[in-house]
Amino acid sequence: MYLIYILVFIIGLFCGSLVNYMGGGVTREPRSFIFSSCRECTAGWQWLYMVPILGFILTRGRCPQCGKSLGLHMILVEIGCGVLFTLLVWRFGLTWELSLAAIYCLVLLILLVTDLEKMLLPNVITYPGFIIVFVLSVAVMALNFEPRWAFHIPATGFFSILNNYLVSALLGALTGFILLLLVAVVSRGGMALGDVKLAGLIGLMTGFPNIFVALFVGIIGGGLIAGLLLLSRLRKRKDPMPFGPFLCLGGMVALLWGTEILKWYLSPLSTP
Ligand SMILES: [Zn+2]
Repeated sequence: MYLIYILVFIIGLFCGSLVNYMGGGVTREPRSFIFSSCRECTAGWQWLYMVPILGFILTRGRCPQCGKSLGLHMILVEIGCGVLFTLLVWRFGLTWELSLAAIYCLVLLILLVTDLEKMLLPNVITYPGFIIVFVLSVAVMALNFEPRWAFHIPATGFFSILNNYLVSALLGALTGFILLLLVAVVSRGGMALGDVKLAGLIGLMTGFPNIFVALFVGIIGGGLIAGLLLLSRLRKRKDPMPFGPFLCLGGMVALLWGTEILKWYLSPLSTP
C-alpha cells in the first residue's frame, strides 16, 4: 500500500506541474500554451525542465530562456498537488469517487494558481468547469452512485428531494452563487464577480449543505491569513488580496471531510 501512496504522490507532482503550465497559459497575454511554466516570455522549454521539482532545481528557480524568477509557489503547487493526491487516495481509496474528486480538485487548483498570480479567475476555466461538473453530476445521479461528500439531510416528505444528488448539486451552486453575490453587492465590489462564479462552481461540486463548509473554511482561512499578513506588516490595509485561493482550499476541504464536519456540527441536534 505504501508503494501506491508513493506512486500517487509522484502522479500528483506531475499534475501539479501541469497545473502550473495551464495556469500560465490561460493568463498569458495573448493566451498561449507553449511548453513552459515561465510567466514572462513565450519561449518553449526543454522537456527536462518541465519535470516537477527536478525542473525547479535544474533551472534554479529561474526561466532558462529569459532568466526571470519563477516564484517559489511553482514548486509549492507541485508538492501541494502531490500531497493532495495522496490525501485523496488515503480518503477515498482507489475508487470512482477518487477520480471524480481528483478532477474537481485539479480544476480548483488551476483557479487557485491564476488568482494567486494575476488576481484572475478566468472564465475560460470556470465555464467549462461548470459544464464538466454538471455532466459528471448527471452521470453520478443516473448511475445511482453516492460520493462521500454528498451529505444526507434528515428530511422527510417533499424535502427528501434535497437528498437527490443532482438537486443537491444545483442547490449548492445556487447557494454559493447567491451568498457571495450578496457579499459583492453589500461590499460594493469588495468581492469580484469571479469569486461569485467560483463559489457557484464549488457549490455544484460539493452540493448542499456541504457548500457551507467550503465557504466557512474559505472565509475563516482568508480572514486569518489576511490578519496575519497585516500584523506582520507584509501587507497594507489597502493592498488587494485574492479571495479565490481560500475558496478553492475550502472546496477541497469540503470534498475531503465535509460530511464528517457537518455530522460533527449537527450531532448535538440528533442526540438530545
Ligand atoms: Zn522566460
